[in-house]
Amino acid sequence: MLKAQRKRTDYTRWFRDVTLMAEVYDYRVLVKGCGVWPGYGFKLRNNVLNIIKSLLDATGHEECLFPLLIPQSLLAKEGEHIRSFEKEVFWVTKGGETELEEKLALRPTSETVIMPMFKLWIQSHTDLPKKVYQVVSVFRYETKATHPMIRVREVTMFKEAHTAHATYEDAERQVKEAIEIYRKFFDELSIPYVISKRPVWDKFAGAVYTISFDTLMPEGRTLQIGTVHNLGQNFSKPFEVEFLKPDGSRDYVYTTSYGVSERVIAALISIHGDDHGLLLPPKVAPIQVVIVPIPYKGKEREVYEASRKLYETLKEVGVRVKLDDRDDVTPGEKFYFWELKGVPVRVEIGPKDLEGGTVTLSRRDTLERTRHPVEELEVKVKELFKEIERSLSERSWREFREHLIYVNTLEEAKELVAKQEGIIHVAWCGSDDCGLKLESEVQGRVLGTPLDEKVEGKCVVCGENASYYVRLAKTY
Ligand SMILES: [Zn+2]
Repeated sequence: MLKAQRKRTDYTRWFRDVTLMAEVYDYRVLVKGCGVWPGYGFKLRNNVLNIIKSLLDATGHEECLFPLLIPQSLLAKEGEHIRSFEKEVFWVTKGGETELEEKLALRPTSETVIMPMFKLWIQSHTDLPKKVYQVVSVFRYETKATHPMIRVREVTMFKEAHTAHATYEDAERQVKEAIEIYRKFFDELSIPYVISKRPVWDKFAGAVYTISFDTLMPEGRTLQIGTVHNLGQNFSKPFEVEFLKPDGSRDYVYTTSYGVSERVIAALISIHGDDHGLLLPPKVAPIQVVIVPIPYKGKEREVYEASRKLYETLKEVGVRVKLDDRDDVTPGEKFYFWELKGVPVRVEIGPKDLEGGTVTLSRRDTLERTRHPVEELEVKVKELFKEIERSLSERSWREFREHLIYVNTLEEAKELVAKQEGIIHVAWCGSDDCGLKLESEVQGRVLGTPLDEKVEGKCVVCGENASYYVRLAKTY
């Protein structure tokens, strides 16, 4: 069973075991770098996606669907973009036995297939802003060792949004809106994060700048879980996406794009899970409550009947509830099974409960058990949902903040990054030279600079006046 793999001491194994055994993600590879979502995992995936979709829908984004195949000539239109993606694109070169006249790329991201449509759809300033998104697979030819959900060849849950605007200022406003949307999204999932402006050498290929959300995984490496790009007119010019301004002149639109992927689910599992298995926030748990009857001699029928009633009660009020009435599995085995699956609340009904008109509730996060009158079931379950979510959020942010570390010297930064102690902050003058030197000295990555935290100090590399903190960490 799971017992052997501990999250803190053998995180990679723990992640593989838990996702496989809880039937969230199956990485016994059919094709290298491509995972499978079994039913339980797919429900979790949909519940997570529904949160981001409703946030996007509520802010005027329209869900669309663009083609998977991108002709080489389109992918190559923005020079910087193609140079960055060239080496990691999968190409389709044949149709049946016929060599294609033009190679087709499996989309690595969709800017270059959305721009030509924007050109057709946008004529006038009254067509702006235009905000679309899609949830699709994207493909990257990863050559480094693959990691389930984190470093994959088929990213199956890529939610990419693309917007077009009449002015640079409006695109800037959109970047802020996207950051707020992602903030709310990660807050709903109790996933802690820092928001950084990526250094110029690490921005998205073709972007003016990139803002990213990074979280911290149990082994002390950061994981990029969301990015927001201001693309300026870098794509609209080569793709000739023009519009008519109110004064009769013409200009190219300003665009942005922003994305999240199944890395969000990898973070959700890794941050909240424990040595018993998954621990899912009630908001997204495919099963929020499991009812386990504790039958005893002569009273089997009564216990099952009472369990069935509890099931109906909860189902009626919209709780995602499961009655585990298998009679060939002991209650103890059922407890382990549903704990592994991360079901937030367990309801037990046994002899004492039957006599006293009570139910026993057990919460997955603390494994604490309490007994309540059966009439209070619905109220108590809903209270527990809130309480579990509050406590998950509090715990994950507390642990995260303990690993945001500020140091004054390059030596200290080097040591802490090597030990994977978390996200290390040092003062930086902002020059590329010093930034790249930092990156190679600490053998980690420059995540970028905080959006709102200024510093008065000296750059730890060159000693000049520093106006920024810069964040350093080991990454995936
Ligand atoms: Zn410097």
